[in-house]
Amino acid sequence: MFRYDLHVHTRYSRDGRCTLLEAVRIARSKGLSGIAITDHDSINGNLEAARLNLKDFVIIPGIEVSSRDGHILGLNVMEPIPPGLPAAETVALIREQGGIAVAAHPFGLGRKIGAVLKAKFDAIEVFNSRTYFGNSLAREFAEKNKLPIVAGSDAHYPDEIGLAGVEVNCKPRVDAVLSSIVQREIAVFGQLLPPFTYLRRAIQKLISR
Ligand SMILES: [Zn+2]
Ligand SMILES: [Zn+2]
Repeated sequence: MFRYDLHVHTRYSRDGRCTLLEAVRIARSKGLSGIAITDHDSINGNLEAARLNLKDFVIIPGIEVSSRDGHILGLNVMEPIPPGLPAAETVALIREQGGIAVAAHPFGLGRKIGAVLKAKFDAIEVFNSRTYFGNSLAREFAEKNKLPIVAGSDAHYPDEIGLAGVEVNCKPRVDAVLSSIVQREIAVFGQLLPPFTYLRRAIQKLISR
């Protein structure tokens, strides 16, 4: 089985504290076969990853779009997608590029929860390490609507990488991992970021604004 963390932020996110190379190094040290780079409304990490042309490590180019109705992950996305659009339009733009659209932390406390109700997703993020009360609701929603599932750490700091993700048994290639997701040939794993660490980092974020 090969492990992938499908939700990782780098310094290309305003609140990300990790360079791309650092993210790769930590992910490797934790035994991951790859990560999805999902910066807030930015694909700069994907462009950097393409230049690095890493061997033996898979970078799934992604984005976390701040749609009008909530956060949406696009996996296999190389073109920017504007924030602030309705969920359905954002999902359509992700698919146009051959990407898959994932509802990120769809029932997270204090988040907009409209996205899953306003668009049809290719998969639902049922475990997010920074979501303390919404993960089980997300899983119930995915089961009820028979939708594929994914998971990720939502890492904003290096040590959060690999706290959650998916296990697949496929070739180490972006297309193979994505097709395992939509074919439901995956298992999710995950641990929450310790709440105290989350709180400390949330306060740091407020102070640094
Ligand atoms: Zn988010
Ligand atoms: Zn995120």
